[in-house]
Amino acid sequence: MGAVSEFWDKLKGEKKLFALKCRCGAVVFPPQPSCPTCNGWEMEWVELSGRGEIYAYTVSNIAPPSFTGKLPFCVSIIKLEEGPMVMSIVETDRPEIGMKVQMVLEEKRNLDIPDENWRERPLYKFKPIPAGDSA
Ligand SMILES: [Zn+2]
Repeated sequence: MGAVSEFWDKLKGEKKLFALKCRCGAVVFPPQPSCPTCNGWEMEWVELSGRGEIYAYTVSNIAPPSFTGKLPFCVSIIKLEEGPMVMSIVETDRPEIGMKVQMVLEEKRNLDIPDENWRERPLYKFKPIPAGDSA
């Protein structure tokens, strides 16, 4: 099974983000078949905390049909605690650089898209961690 489909199965089954950790120490996310740092193939799955902080963001007032009920929405680049960057939605009206966020899963997407693999996949997105909550 390819790393990409395995990632989605793990997200759906365990409801957590996983990355691949290479022998060289690089944490590879989103997962891909070989390490972008050393081109190595010997990687193992590691569970991510799902926590990170907003590195950059934009607020969109235009959306595809499946998102029109959610406008405006915030798309961010999030620096995960383990190091990798990921682009995702953050559920907040007041995004800030450095805001601490936690991954949440939206399982029922009802997406009207032709690819049934994508229709079945949950959406990972992020929400702010309230200040003072370090758990
Ligand atoms: Zn490597």
